[in-house]
Amino acid sequence: MPNRDLFVVFTGAPGCGKGTQARILCEKTGICHLSTGEMLRAEIKKGTPLGLELKEALDDGGFASDELIIRMVEERIGQDDCKHGFLLDGFPRTLPQAETLEGLLDSKGVKLDAVIEIQVPDEIIMERILGRYACMKCGRGYHDRFLKPKVYGVCDECGGTEFSRRVDDNRTTVQNRLVNFRALTYPTIPFFEKKGLLRCVDGTGTINAVAAKIEKVLDIAD
Ligand SMILES: [Zn+2]
Repeated sequence: MPNRDLFVVFTGAPGCGKGTQARILCEKTGICHLSTGEMLRAEIKKGTPLGLELKEALDDGGFASDELIIRMVEERIGQDDCKHGFLLDGFPRTLPQAETLEGLLDSKGVKLDAVIEIQVPDEIIMERILGRYACMKCGRGYHDRFLKPKVYGVCDECGGTEFSRRVDDNRTTVQNRLVNFRALTYPTIPFFEKKGLLRCVDGTGTINAVAAKIEKVLDIAD
């Protein structure tokens, strides 16, 4: 349990370190880590009606619509373990999602503490993404240079020994993802800024240094 309720959104370009930082903050505070990617996989695995709809959308090689993603998030944040805090990672991804989130939280009487934008220049993002890989069993992410498993070839999280790289982690698709981020997600930044929620954190230091900066802006540093 966190010492106080804490409701946070992490945003930033793909490869900015959101997922890693989200895991660290959630471990420290005990709040729920709500990663859109993991929620999608879990929902599909459970085979719920929503899961089936999501699977269908993704199977076509497309994206899940704002409407489906919002339903998924709404259901998840209504669960008991989210009562005292959660961290949204990968959501909202579009301005309509951001606007809907606001209404959704209002209706539950939840107030966001902060939207943290982790800022990293494009060239560093490129280096980070091209080196990353993940455990095939549990999905835990690693990096050739910056985040190696403690024991070579063995996942820290689950002991798995098979790893994979995303086929789309190459220079061209990373550039496309950055362009997409600017077009789709970036408009949410001024939206949250106007609400007085935006906190920018320089995401270029070591993982621990960035984590410390995040704790500082959230005022939860030891
Ligand atoms: Zn693993």
